[in-house]
Amino acid sequence: MRPDILNPLFAEISALKGVGTALARPLERLGLARAVDVAFHLPVAWIDRLIVDALDMRQAGRIVGTVLTPVDYKAGGGMRAPFRVHATDAAGNYVSLIYFGKNSGWPRKLLPLGERKFVSGRLELYGQDLQMVHPDHVLPVEEAASVPAREPVYRLSEGLSNNRMRDLVTQALERAPVLPEWIEPSLLAKRQWPGWHDALHMVHRQPDEALARERMAYDEIFAGQLALMLVRAAGRRRRGVPIAGDGRLRAMLKLPFAPTGAQRRATAEIDGDMAQGTPMLRLLQGDVGSGKTLVALMAMLNAVEAGRQAAMLAPTEILARQHFATLQKMLAGLPVTIAILTGREKGKVRESTLMGLADGSIDILVGTHAIFQEAVQYKALALAVIDEQHRFGVAQRMMLAAKAERAPHLLVMTATPIPRTLTLTHYGEMDVSRLDEMPPGRQPIETRVLSIDRVDEVIEALGRHVAGGGQAYWVCPLVEESEMSDQTAAEVRAETLRMRFGDAVALVHGRMKGPDKDAVMDGFARDVTKILVATTVIEVGVDVPNATLMIIEGADRFGLAQLHQLRGRVGRGDKASVCLLLRGNALSETARARLALMRETNDGFRIAEADLDLRGAGEVLGTRQSGDAEMKLATPEHLADMIDAARDDARLLIDRDGGLDSLRGQAARACLYLFERDAAVTLLRGG
Ligand code: ADP
Ligand code: MG
Repeated sequence: MRPDILNPLFAEISALKGVGTALARPLERLGLARAVDVAFHLPVAWIDRLIVDALDMRQAGRIVGTVLTPVDYKAGGGMRAPFRVHATDAAGNYVSLIYFGKNSGWPRKLLPLGERKFVSGRLELYGQDLQMVHPDHVLPVEEAASVPAREPVYRLSEGLSNNRMRDLVTQALERAPVLPEWIEPSLLAKRQWPGWHDALHMVHRQPDEALARERMAYDEIFAGQLALMLVRAAGRRRRGVPIAGDGRLRAMLKLPFAPTGAQRRATAEIDGDMAQGTPMLRLLQGDVGSGKTLVALMAMLNAVEAGRQAAMLAPTEILARQHFATLQKMLAGLPVTIAILTGREKGKVRESTLMGLADGSIDILVGTHAIFQEAVQYKALALAVIDEQHRFGVAQRMMLAAKAERAPHLLVMTATPIPRTLTLTHYGEMDVSRLDEMPPGRQPIETRVLSIDRVDEVIEALGRHVAGGGQAYWVCPLVEESEMSDQTAAEVRAETLRMRFGDAVALVHGRMKGPDKDAVMDGFARDVTKILVATTVIEVGVDVPNATLMIIEGADRFGLAQLHQLRGRVGRGDKASVCLLLRGNALSETARARLALMRETNDGFRIAEADLDLRGAGEVLGTRQSGDAEMKLATPEHLADMIDAARDDARLLIDRDGGLDSLRGQAARACLYLFERDAAVTLLRGG
């Protein structure tokens, strides 16, 4: 349970004064649900206010505060004309205070004629006239001192003013307790960081408080690392099944190629882990096409040789079927039984698979998340492979680890080459193997960026490509966020292409029924279909080497990682491939930078680093919605700077005090709760 001392800070936001129904929506849009969210809603900029006796043209552009006397009103002429309050300053200079909106009662009440007021706002020069649009403060003169010269600026949303936000922050800060220190004293001294309570106040009250911000970012990173170390420690306390295959099944494999050095290294590392009595927790990182499937197969055969079972989880139905087909082909002639289980296997087929798993006659199971559900009982599950394509978070990994009495060895595969800091942030509890070497003979993919205005030329090029025996993907953009509209966009595109290419065109999208999807993918794999129009359902894993042209419509709407994944669908054989990125005409800076980078490089690691800079961690990992990746306070720079220290500190603490019982351990628990790593606390022995 959360320590009582934190309860006021974790109160619902409605507990703050002045939060009624009118603010509910704007606060929700900003993701502010509790007082603590407000306390962690840090300023994005600072206003340096000029407090003056008299206004001056040279102050234009600045936020200026001065005493004004309203002398006249001028109501707007037409519907949209603003309401103006003419006022004079102490020296008799004129300024117009401008209010938009229908209601002129409000400025009249705020600024009665002849009554001196302290007014602050951005001073603008309109021709020769001074004006202020919607002053940020209008107060009785004696309250002028309550307006700070330096004021934090917060991210806002419609219906929520900066003043109101400042007030909410003040209230939230009052709820923040003084907490015992959890940071290692020597680190705290070296970095000259303030204590947590001071830091929290400083970041909202003083600009240039880099140290206070840094400390808070550190707390967040530390909480994350500590949680992962607890997960790791809990995993290590569980008993696993030591697995040592005799190599007889591996020797029977008839591969059309030799494994790369990287594949051999990764396999050796996995064998080493699986031989231990504590369960493996290993991340296999390798760019699209680096050959992760073979490594997974080797690990699974290791389990089967030892008389145990292995299960492989794929993120989508399509990918599960593809893995199943690939593995089945590779296993041809081997005495290994493999089965598939997804939400679609029903009735008798499902029953018999469940029985086969329970009695041990099925050696390898491939499927979607269904394979780890309650009803599925394994006779001797020794290895779980998760082809996660960055969708399987820490929480899910913990759940899986808890599934069997003897925890299965866990191999997580990720196709997005993640920068090191993110690997530590999100997989810090795992050991890492990297496939940093591509299978030989790959042709680089040539990438071009074209305006959608040139779609006719693109269709011509597509025609030549198909006439030459090639196959192609045409990916349609995400329209808004509703799947229906994606589907419509793809359907419309498919129709246009059918007018020219007829039955050579097929369409696949996320809302299609499973068997229909399979039929379409199968037609494409068998080269009956030449052009596959798709939404992003083909993002992951699909492998058709003869498809060497990738057209991505609305490419500016996709993230870098996603574009890289999509592009990875081509360039899988020994033929040269081309990727055409069709962009809209109104490009943001970020979109422009992204497309330029895609044109420039095929290097997944470079793309991932850039994606992190351009878009933030959540989007690189594809977990923004789930909240798993979100850092509230720490920036990528903070991570790069401090993750090693946080990791060492967390490890040291757990080595000394695995139950977090010492004073510092107790303090660290509070830090875990502050950043909602509660789940990790439940892993503490007795805790
Ligand atoms: P990933 O899952 O890492 O994206 P895959 O396992 O699907 O990559 O492998 C991509 C392609 O490379 C497959 O067609 C596979 O058969 C092939 N491949 C894998 N390893 C090798 C190798 N050592 N040499 C040549 N081709 C390989
Ligand atoms: Mg794969």
